[in-house]
Amino acid sequence: MNKLNNVQTIHLGDELLMGLRLNTHLEYLGEKFAGFGIDIKRSFVIRDQLEEINKSLEIAWEEADLIIVTGGLGPTEDDKTRDAVADFLDLKLVYVEAIEQMIRERFRLGGYVFSDNNLRQCYALEGAEVLENPHGTAPGQWVEKEGKLVILLPGPPRELNPMFEEKVIPQLIEKGWMEGHIPHIQLRTVGIGESKLETSIQPLLKANPEVQVAYCAHASSVDVRFAVNDPAHKEILKKVSFEAEKIFGEDFVGYGNVELAEWLLKALIDEGSTLSVAESCTGGLIASELTEIPGASKAFMGGMITYSDESKIRGLGVSEKLIEDHGVVSDQVAKAMAKGVAENFSTTYGLSTTGYAGPDGGTEKDPVGTVYIGFHSPKETVVKKVNLRGDRKAVRERAVVQALDLVRRNIRKYDNKDKTGSD
Ligand code: ATP
Ligand code: MG
Repeated sequence: MNKLNNVQTIHLGDELLMGLRLNTHLEYLGEKFAGFGIDIKRSFVIRDQLEEINKSLEIAWEEADLIIVTGGLGPTEDDKTRDAVADFLDLKLVYVEAIEQMIRERFRLGGYVFSDNNLRQCYALEGAEVLENPHGTAPGQWVEKEGKLVILLPGPPRELNPMFEEKVIPQLIEKGWMEGHIPHIQLRTVGIGESKLETSIQPLLKANPEVQVAYCAHASSVDVRFAVNDPAHKEILKKVSFEAEKIFGEDFVGYGNVELAEWLLKALIDEGSTLSVAESCTGGLIASELTEIPGASKAFMGGMITYSDESKIRGLGVSEKLIEDHGVVSDQVAKAMAKGVAENFSTTYGLSTTGYAGPDGGTEKDPVGTVYIGFHSPKETVVKKVNLRGDRKAVRERAVVQALDLVRRNIRKYDNKDKTGSD
């Protein structure tokens, strides 16, 4: 069992409180600990001031068995963490020769000059273990007192993240503060809302109380993460995941962090088919998403951004009369676009979007957020009409997911059952 029952974090930074920077440390640490079945119980975001550090340490010390303090380890006057923690824990700050050597070596390699300021960083709490920082100057510190653990980590995320991953996690496990990763399996779904998804697996979870569940919603997709605390329950975990997969049916995309575009390209390559896209309201975002995947050219042939009526008529062969009769944002035009682009590029499938991304436009029947997605295959040409929420950016992003998802639902199911992402 995990010895860590109460983890609390303290994040220093005026800029975090002024809205100039997002507190990514909490996001990062929260997710990492969740992977070990540990929740962060409380988190403080505070100004870079001695008394603020002291106050939050006082509160955290009451209950926590691990306190992580981030930021304020730099060389300047406003970097107060070392002094404040030393004061609070009643520990001396001692000069550590090895830190000076590490910083000097780093500066030598980078061509910087070691200044007197940097000497401030060469002090560690008495009895602390110094956590080397290969990505910056401020080392981290690990100090145990009265059965509690306090860890100081540097502010810059590109320094904190690797230090936590490479130095802190292995030691927490090795020194018995926590167990290894808890067994978990993640399922990705598209097209089903979080609450509906939750309802659909309620009976399954009731019948298997050993399994815990967490949901994470992204733009138009929702991840479901099942976990068990006891490794002996791994089989139950697998069983529940496969049953959930069956319940989700068509809405299930794959295991782990499978990307929709990546899934799709694999499936297309697997069946030896090709795709092209004609984009109006998504303006190239679908093509961009697909071409982010290395090797996309094996299945994705190209696309056209046909934003004006004129370009739809000339570029895709959509008839002028069709646009006049039904409007450019319509079922009929989406179909004609998908068919037109598939013919232009000689691809198996054609995909199209035409819609109102807002903020202006739309009709009573089709308000802002309405997008028609066309999909052409040798068998048939289909259209899906979606009503997407959000501002222009959100509508366009959601339309991309919906469009890729329409292709996914209309082609042969790609079997990725062996990629359960479990451990
Ligand atoms: P440095 O040696 O760079 O001064 P430091 O340990 O003193 O490191 P800070 O001065 O507090 O850390 O922050 C350094 C940088 O890291 C700043 O750009 C800051 O905005 C960023 N940073 C600090 N805390 C966070 C956080 N919680 N989330 C995201 N970025 C952060
Ligand atoms: Mg600093």
